[in-house]
Amino acid sequence: MARQIKTDEQSIDEFVNLLAVDFDNPDYCWTFSGTILVSGYGRFRFQQKDWRAHRLAYHLFVGDIDNDVLHKCIGNRRCCNPLHLYGGDNIDNQDDRATQGRAGRKINMYQATCIKSLSGLVSNNTLACWFNISRRQVNNIRRDKQWYRAVDNVIQTDLGMENAT
Ligand SMILES: [Zn+2]
Repeated sequence: MARQIKTDEQSIDEFVNLLAVDFDNPDYCWTFSGTILVSGYGRFRFQQKDWRAHRLAYHLFVGDIDNDVLHKCIGNRRCCNPLHLYGGDNIDNQDDRATQGRAGRKINMYQATCIKSLSGLVSNNTLACWFNISRRQVNNIRRDKQWYRAVDNVIQTDLGMENAT
């Protein structure tokens, strides 16, 4: 029997659960507690692909990866806190993004799924801060006013893949 394919939602949920997040101190390192590579980076399988954990965290929480993903917290390669990660070639853009404010920032489907996975564990305010969006957006995502269709599509696509095997 073919190995069951996880939905993106399930994978993200699993990934988030492997992050040691101190919810009282979300600014601390989120140390990945899954498989660790010899290099010291975490490893996680997502969408049939092996990722270094911090790169996946950046991809999920922040956005597209142009180049290297580097740590601001030197010495903890397992850290996946999006606030501690930055794109190697993208420092100027990051600064721009930080000064643009939160209102209306577009987030992707994965980020929406992460927010759903984390809601209940983290306050709306904290989620808004992590993902650099407004609290209203967080609220809408939690209440399925935004993104419900996107998440449904992921599940449907995945079911389609299962039927094909
Ligand atoms: Zn860190």
